[in-house]
Amino acid sequence: MPKWLEIYNVASLPQKAYIFAEEAHKDAKRANGDPYITHCLTVAETVANWRLDESSIAAALLHDVVEDTKYTHKEIEKMFGQEVAFLVDGLTKLDTIQYPKKDPNIENLRKLIVSFSKDLRVIIIKLADRLHNMQTLQYLPRERQQALAWETTEIYAPLAYRLGMQKLSGELEDLAFPYLYPEEYEWLIDNVTELYEERQAYGEKIKPTVAKLLESHNIKTSQIDSRAKRYSSLYKKLLRYDMQLDKIYDLVAMRIIVNTVEECYTVLGIIHQEWSPLPGRIKDYIARPKPNGYRSLHTTVFCTDHKITEFQIRTQEMHEEDELGIAAHWAYQQIKSSKEHARNWLGVRSRRELLWIEQLRNWQKAFTNQKDFIESLKIDFFKDRIFVITPHNDVVDLPTGATPIDFAYQIHSDVGNACVGAKINGKIVPLDYELQSGDLVEIITQRGRKPSKDWLRFAKTSLAKKQIRSALQDKDHNLDKKDESHIEFKIVNEDRPGYLKDITAAFGDLKINITHLTSTTDHRHKFSSVTAKCEPISKDRLERALVKIKKIPGTREISYKFNR
Ligand code: MN
Repeated sequence: MPKWLEIYNVASLPQKAYIFAEEAHKDAKRANGDPYITHCLTVAETVANWRLDESSIAAALLHDVVEDTKYTHKEIEKMFGQEVAFLVDGLTKLDTIQYPKKDPNIENLRKLIVSFSKDLRVIIIKLADRLHNMQTLQYLPRERQQALAWETTEIYAPLAYRLGMQKLSGELEDLAFPYLYPEEYEWLIDNVTELYEERQAYGEKIKPTVAKLLESHNIKTSQIDSRAKRYSSLYKKLLRYDMQLDKIYDLVAMRIIVNTVEECYTVLGIIHQEWSPLPGRIKDYIARPKPNGYRSLHTTVFCTDHKITEFQIRTQEMHEEDELGIAAHWAYQQIKSSKEHARNWLGVRSRRELLWIEQLRNWQKAFTNQKDFIESLKIDFFKDRIFVITPHNDVVDLPTGATPIDFAYQIHSDVGNACVGAKINGKIVPLDYELQSGDLVEIITQRGRKPSKDWLRFAKTSLAKKQIRSALQDKDHNLDKKDESHIEFKIVNEDRPGYLKDITAAFGDLKINITHLTSTTDHRHKFSSVTAKCEPISKDRLERALVKIKKIPGTREISYKFNR
């Protein structure tokens, strides 16, 4: 410990860190002329507001010390212990890039991913750091502004979203928006401000009406307020609605916070009794939370004066989770129990929810090409997600445009490789079907099946593409590539559950690879017709296949032809 620090008889880690950081940065200034320590303090304050622990607050105060001052990682460890030193190290940029050709920004991102997958506090502190940097972006040169704004939108805002910190994610996007899209921002301000104000005033006007309505049903609300939609998300939505502002119903949403989950549903009922709901706009994120943990009930109703208004109903706990995300769980655990939990806090949240962090860590290893890495990061982890459901009722999240193939590989590479067909909500679909949020997805597999080259055309995730390619490579070694012909079976059968499974099993028993499987059902006459294509087989196996399929209960007709 330096001599000057010994004269302070300070007990707490954050106090000690503050004194140390102030001295270390004493000659440095922020771009706006403020002493550098103001930045460290703001970051630490944010981290404290998110209710992280003392080590995190200390690390927040010290986060730029190793990078910007003469002090080293070793010295930080000696003074503040291993835990704080680990956090600070995760936040320190690599200054020497080992491989001269690599992009230093991306190498730093890799490092961040590795350290935050070991300890999520690293990324939470990093997000607090980024928030303050974005809040003070106006002082930086134009080029830096754009680079930081881009990185914030592409990486940090989606990261915050994935960690359930929706409020922060929106804030970061809003801060970046004017720098990235100055013209669009101006257009928005010109066109929306008045409407915003009008809708805000409307929200204020109906607040007492809503309060009275709920009171009359003996519902105690802890909060009713109106919340304006963020500029950045409004703009994204407008792009989808041909810039027609009158189609955006949640420009200002009413938010009702109650005490219990039961009350959430009661309030939803009361609102629907009073104002009729718009069809298709009721969303129960309590029964089925978004994969990032978001819970609430949403509904849109024809409200007072026939104004279409969105309501969001949630408990206080859900509200805090929405704001703090993963940090909220961290905070709860801290209150609930002692250090033991704190040290092990990754274990307290459902493993499945955090699986993507583990994936992220493993993936960054797999990508040697910088562009691929960033692309996969953007598409596979962060960008517009859809949420589909497995037959076991698990939620799987995938990028928009994902197909059953992507889903299958997300479950397991063996499921992907053995995939011959897919059922969405009970109906068979082609493998290039575009999955929609809420789809129930069931993969039909066949043992010994190999992926088809065709899949690469429509697979969306890098994971699926990578695994298809590697399976194809194996396949190429085993197969005679010259012969591109195939056999097409047409099977007419009585429509009964499980028939398709019996067919794939029959082919599987004979080790015949199905490359294409479709089925159409005539519900009126209760029969289906299945088309199955497979790779060429010997006459003997073809005959055995015909016999086997004819024996399957429900088979009416079977025919086949050779295609070239
Ligand atoms: Mn900083």
